Amino acid sequence: MSIPNVSAGDHIATKCSKCGMETNHTIIAVVDELPAKVQCNTCNSEHKYRKPAAAKKATTPRKPATRRTKADPLALERQQWQEIQSSFDASKAVAYSMDGSYKVNALIKHPKFGIGKVQELNGTRKMSVLFEDGLKVLRCA
Ligand SMILES: [Zn+2]
Repeated sequence: MSIPNVSAGDHIATKCSKCGMETNHTIIAVVDELPAKVQCNTCNSEHKYRKPAAAKKATTPRKPATRRTKADPLALERQQWQEIQSSFDASKAVAYSMDGSYKVNALIKHPKFGIGKVQELNGTRKMSVLFEDGLKVLRCA
């Protein structure tokens, strides 16, 4: 850490909670070579100096904790699903039947997987259908 020596009376720009923005402050007290207490030059309120945590780290890793985009093998299919889901009319989906014949882009309603969109006809009484849970291969006529 290379923090320039500071002493009381110095000026420092830091966030003022009263002003709700970064303002110039006068350092009132210094502890361990760090500003401990500062006074806002704008509103004259005194408060503890908080290190700007975000600014300290040069690179903030963009790692959304809850989303497993890389690890999730279905991420791409889910994304595709999101895209088609916003465009289709669920009420037009037809109940899926093994004996039915379907066209590419047809909407079907599967008892287990829900609504899906036919992606590909595989020619051997099979078709690939994209569901919310990902791509499934179903039988068809
Ligand atoms: Zn202020």
